[in-house]
Amino acid sequence: MEELAIKGGKPVRDKKIFYGRQWIDEQDVEAVVATLRSDYLTCGPKVKELEEKLCEITGAKYAVAVSNGTAALHCACIAAGIGPGDEVITTPITFAASANCALYVGATPVFADINPETYNIDPASIEAKITEKTKAVVAVDFTGQAVEIERIRAICKKHHLIFIEDAAHSIGTTYKGQAVGSLADLTTFSFHPVKTVTAGEGGAILTNDEKLYQKLVLAHTHGITHDEDLMEEAPHEGPWYYEQVELGYNYRITDIQASLLLSQLEKLSTFKARRQEIVGRYEATFADVEGLILQKEISESDTCRHLYIIQLDLSKLTCSRREFFDAMAAENVQCQIHYVPVYWFPHYKRLGHRIGECPHAEALYQGIMSIPLYPAMTDQDVEDVIHAVKKCVEYYQK
Ligand SMILES: *Cc1c(COP(=O)(O)O)cnc(C)c1O
Repeated sequence: MEELAIKGGKPVRDKKIFYGRQWIDEQDVEAVVATLRSDYLTCGPKVKELEEKLCEITGAKYAVAVSNGTAALHCACIAAGIGPGDEVITTPITFAASANCALYVGATPVFADINPETYNIDPASIEAKITEKTKAVVAVDFTGQAVEIERIRAICKKHHLIFIEDAAHSIGTTYKGQAVGSLADLTTFSFHPVKTVTAGEGGAILTNDEKLYQKLVLAHTHGITHDEDLMEEAPHEGPWYYEQVELGYNYRITDIQASLLLSQLEKLSTFKARRQEIVGRYEATFADVEGLILQKEISESDTCRHLYIIQLDLSKLTCSRREFFDAMAAENVQCQIHYVPVYWFPHYKRLGHRIGECPHAEALYQGIMSIPLYPAMTDQDVEDVIHAVKKCVEYYQK
């Protein structure tokens, strides 16, 4: 058996590899430079072009591009009319923003448990958490795999809830052949550099509903409108006149960012294919490794995978998750954990949340680890990651 690097052996690779990173090529660089040389750095044609492109890719009727994925979730909550006294059901296995957006509008996040096999929010648990105060569900396509859209849609319809899909991980994914972005009442994307396509920072909200769209537009630019149809008074003061009809924010994205993202979106299908290829290689290798549990994929989802997660079956290993994580880092494979259950954080504890709320989510958290997955990985990088995982598992197997 190979000696682990953490015990003094030779590491699997010399250069550290991280769990995710962007892929920027010359075409991206040129797109940004061209915008820098143009008339508009913000509020110009690239933002509009980006919104049209997002509609084209997803089949959604309307898109509003914003400054980041968190702003997108905040705007979605505003458009949905969520406010004080309302409850919003989400998953604890997500980035904090999926729950924070409810707090931004004065509502109360409520956590439903996950399906322990798919790791996505469990529709049965959503139903169990519904009260007369429930106003919306924020369902996260965790790792890129679509949530059980049809069941969640049916639950939302039955209880008159707004279905917000946090698709920060899942641009490029389809559910029963339909693109994520057109499947929920409101869908949000993030274009942070670790996500599938990037704008540096960026986000978007998509919807098929014109009323929701108008609210999104207002929310992301101060609640200000130049459209006379949306004005309340429209006193014809002159061409300079606009009206602030709501309280909104400055959540605009720049044309610089939009031009980068437009260039990235041209590569979305190549990125997806490469991600699927790497996932396929991981699945084929890890499927019968004793001590590893793999995420189950529902057949409806053709997933553009954002994260690849291995779950350690700690009953079959002699190490803790921490020891395994450190051993991988010593092999120069830097993993990450997605995610600490959101309600474990001090801010949520102060709001009254307690350990034990979602047992499946907490059990999952104990054993998971995200290993490197991004399209710019070379075949050698992929083989190194596989080598490191197998080396560590074999070392720690009971
Ligand atoms: C990244 C992420 C967000 C927030 O996106 P930002 O662009 O970083 O603000 C929201 N939800 C999930 C699930 C995410 O992974």
